Amino acid sequence: MSEYPMRGRPPIPWEDRYIPEPNSGCWLWTGGWMSDGYGRTSDGKKAHRWAYEINVSKIPKGMLVCHRCDTRSCVNPAHLFLGTHADNSRDMVRKGRSLRGTKNPRAKLSPGDVIEIRNSEHSSYALAQVFGVSSRTIESARSGETWPDVTDSRDPDLPDGWQAPDTDEGF
Ligand SMILES: [Zn+2]
Repeated sequence: MSEYPMRGRPPIPWEDRYIPEPNSGCWLWTGGWMSDGYGRTSDGKKAHRWAYEINVSKIPKGMLVCHRCDTRSCVNPAHLFLGTHADNSRDMVRKGRSLRGTKNPRAKLSPGDVIEIRNSEHSSYALAQVFGVSSRTIESARSGETWPDVTDSRDPDLPDGWQAPDTDEGF
């Protein structure tokens, strides 16, 4: 029961931590909240990530848990899916919430983008659309021709899947 730090209170059962919303099918978190609108567990995890881990599977290192329903407080495992930062960015582009993209001719990659690109299985063309740069820029970043000093420096001591995301956008 390591998910439940015992501080003199009995743990709240999973079923009592959300309210089903009949129209959307969302399960709305009833616990604490993060400032960005995500549910928060008593030990400070994002509730939707926790919901995914206990109901679906462990979250692979570096992966995000995204919402199909776009409701940040939702913890219905059926509404959650694993994605990369690139997937999440593409999702935001599709929803028109991204500030970058091909409309911005000066768009450049950040070190976090470069790590994401190198870890991604998507084509250079697809990533170029997501990050708003040319395919050539993606290929150069991937090969190490550009950004040779960027390495994935995530803390290996963090539990799988719980490291802080690189940006505050979305998820
Ligand atoms: Zn939902």
